[in-house]
Amino acid sequence: MLNLVLFGPPGAGKGTQADFLIEKFKLIHLSTGDMLRKQIAEETPLGLEAKSYMDKGFLVPDSIVIGMIKSILQNDKEAKGYIFDGFPRTVAQAKALDVILNENETPVSGMFCLCVEKDELVNRLLFRGKTSGRTDDQDVSIIENRIQVYNEKTMPIKDYYLEQNKYYMIDGMGSVEEIAERLSNTVATL
Ligand code: AMP
Repeated sequence: MLNLVLFGPPGAGKGTQADFLIEKFKLIHLSTGDMLRKQIAEETPLGLEAKSYMDKGFLVPDSIVIGMIKSILQNDKEAKGYIFDGFPRTVAQAKALDVILNENETPVSGMFCLCVEKDELVNRLLFRGKTSGRTDDQDVSIIENRIQVYNEKTMPIKDYYLEQNKYYMIDGMGSVEEIAERLSNTVATL
């Protein structure tokens, strides 16, 4: 079983690259951002709570996202593997993911960090904001906040996976195809 964590700042291209990996390695895509946006669209109580954080560019509480991932992993034990996109985003989430996966005896295979320069991130997000309609992609101060939250809360996860020899750095600059090739070549070495 292949369990891949796609890691990187907002705008690094995690969702785009996840699409390539799903196709190539036949994995299931788990994006906590997509799951939360679905809850918001359906106006569920969880969605309403999450929206208040997402609109400002803050992280949704760990308990909410861990609960969502847990319920999926506990109910689908037949999958060939997963791509975790946008999860984990805190060390507490990374530890919780290990506990859930260890129960299923299917540990994380590798964590792939897409590295992209900050100016490029902001440009990509503003461009996406025009086409996707995502409000958190349309305001530079919210984008700046999300990048700051990534540096403070999410970056420390790198050390967590480094200690387990599961950290892989991928150059996230260049064309979508170039990045996809780098990424799948590295995944294929696992
Ligand atoms: P994304 O689509 O991954 O860029 O996520 C959009 C927003 O959803 C983030 O800015 C957070 O507010 C929230 N979010 C998504 N995944 C997580 C997570 N794993 N932990 C906390 N908040 C999350």
